[in-house]
Amino acid sequence: MRLGVVSDVHGNAVALQEVLIALEDLEVHEVVCLGDVVGYGPHPGLCVDRVKAACSLTLAGNHDRAVADPAILTRFNPVAAEALRWTAERVGDGDAAWLGSLPEEAAHHGGVLCCHGAPGAPNQYIDTPAEAAAALGRSPQPLALCGHTHVPAALVLHPGGRVSDDWHPWPEGEPLEIKPEARVLLNPGSVGQPRDGDPRAAYAVLDLDAGAATRYRIEYDIESTQKAMARAGLPTSLIDRLANGR
Ligand code: ZN
Repeated sequence: MRLGVVSDVHGNAVALQEVLIALEDLEVHEVVCLGDVVGYGPHPGLCVDRVKAACSLTLAGNHDRAVADPAILTRFNPVAAEALRWTAERVGDGDAAWLGSLPEEAAHHGGVLCCHGAPGAPNQYIDTPAEAAAALGRSPQPLALCGHTHVPAALVLHPGGRVSDDWHPWPEGEPLEIKPEARVLLNPGSVGQPRDGDPRAAYAVLDLDAGAATRYRIEYDIESTQKAMARAGLPTSLIDRLANGR
């Protein structure tokens, strides 16, 4: 079973399209989406349609839940809330209901725990190896996937092993070995709004039979998304950050 992993699409259909084509070329059997299908970006309806068609499991991220339930908009910073209000006006009632119906966490049938933020804590940002180790300790499955930070990262804990000093030791394009006895937490990074200084769209492939996980980046037409955001009147800071991936 080869599992494609996407997260934090954030209404960027141009980036999503490139990633889905790349995953098809990599011959994945299924794709899971770790949440935040919408918010920030200019194509929320299109992203809902494409994620629905492409993904066997989709989680709700905090932005998805805010579109379904505007009462929680107060928890977002003003720029994110402005983009979410714009998003909520554009998506139809059916799409909003679908976003609201998604689980916050789910075990994929391949035995992988899928989360938005962290196991048991959908809004938690995992920024440090200690936080990653603690989060992994709460996972009922030895292998867990999370998104939310928009930064690709991996933590591998071997039995009796030390926590590494780095929560990002996952070089692009190099398969990370997943031994059956290890506990592993992976973040594929963000499709639609990367924040690790690399503006290319991020995704990952998990080969459950071979015991390997590989993360990838792919270029997309950033200007096309930026122009759509400008036409939509979305906040300038959100438009600018796509070009530098911060
Ligand atoms: Zn996000």
